[in-house]
Amino acid sequence: MDSIELLRRLSEAHGPSGFEDEVREHIWKTLANDVDEIRSDALGNLIVRRRANSETAPVLLIDAHMDEVGFVVSHIEPTGFLRLAPLGGWDERVLPGQRLEVRTREGKKYIGVIGTTPPHIQTGDDKKSPPTMESLFVDIGATSRQEVADWGIRLGDSLVPAQSYVELPNGVCAGKAFDDRVGCALLVELFKELTNLPRLGIEIVGLFSTFEELNARGAMVGTFGIAPTFALVLEATVAADVPGVPEARCPTRFGGGAAITLMDKYTHCHPRLVRVLELIAEREKIPYQFKRPIFGGTNAARIHTTRAGVPTATLSVPCRYIHSATSLIRLSDYEATRNLLRAFVLEAEKISAEVTS
Ligand SMILES: [Zn+2]
Repeated sequence: MDSIELLRRLSEAHGPSGFEDEVREHIWKTLANDVDEIRSDALGNLIVRRRANSETAPVLLIDAHMDEVGFVVSHIEPTGFLRLAPLGGWDERVLPGQRLEVRTREGKKYIGVIGTTPPHIQTGDDKKSPPTMESLFVDIGATSRQEVADWGIRLGDSLVPAQSYVELPNGVCAGKAFDDRVGCALLVELFKELTNLPRLGIEIVGLFSTFEELNARGAMVGTFGIAPTFALVLEATVAADVPGVPEARCPTRFGGGAAITLMDKYTHCHPRLVRVLELIAEREKIPYQFKRPIFGGTNAARIHTTRAGVPTATLSVPCRYIHSATSLIRLSDYEATRNLLRAFVLEAEKISAEVTS
């Protein structure tokens, strides 16, 4: 399977926080024959393992979160409209007019539209204030609460944007949930590649984690169980090189290559790991950039404070319009991140000695 097909499938999978099963099943099927061990844990994390050439080798944990920002049905109006509660951080301004996909407990899917008030009937106050989550409603074409129930839609059912994956010119890909399905795709590709290589002097454990968008609960328990020597987090991060955003507020540039995090709101990445990533990128001539401090946060926040502390770095693909219904990535950035990840893993035994000495 090529990168595009993998990105498309992962992007289109329905998987908000706590409802990651479609993503998990797809990755499970894709990797089952390529790894030494594959399992899930009590919080739904998918954990895959490629053993080292010795029993006592250090363990490198590589994390990518499976969940995307989404919603659950919080109320069903007598008139058949659905109300929403958020799973993760949404900007309410970008929601009205979007199509959503609601999935029932039985796995049936329906399309709905987040209703809007046309300008014709807006009052002055409507125009001034942004919408709130409580004010939004989803129109699924139903006419009554009973009809919604008959379709199998119930409280707590999950919703995500109804967006298919599309390719734009210049290697730009548009789709939902690139945060963090690009990380999942990178990790899948890495394990596929490892099967063709001799065993390394390091054990590689992939953590496809749940609940990142809800305080990184999945990575917290997953990392505790794995007890890694050091860790790398794969993410999609904010690219904001668009009109109206000053350069100083732009965390990364689209097309600027793999983004190495120095520090974000919750993590100072391990300085030796940051240095190693920089040196590898320079040596291999892989396009890279430093993510501007100190925007955002990732699973690294939980991972690096697990047990007695885990040296951790974060590597990201720049992504425009993150946490909205459609985001964009550039394949050249994806490839740069994949190449830097690969080079890092091939040297991981040496790197482990450096960070733990
Ligand atoms: Zn993320």
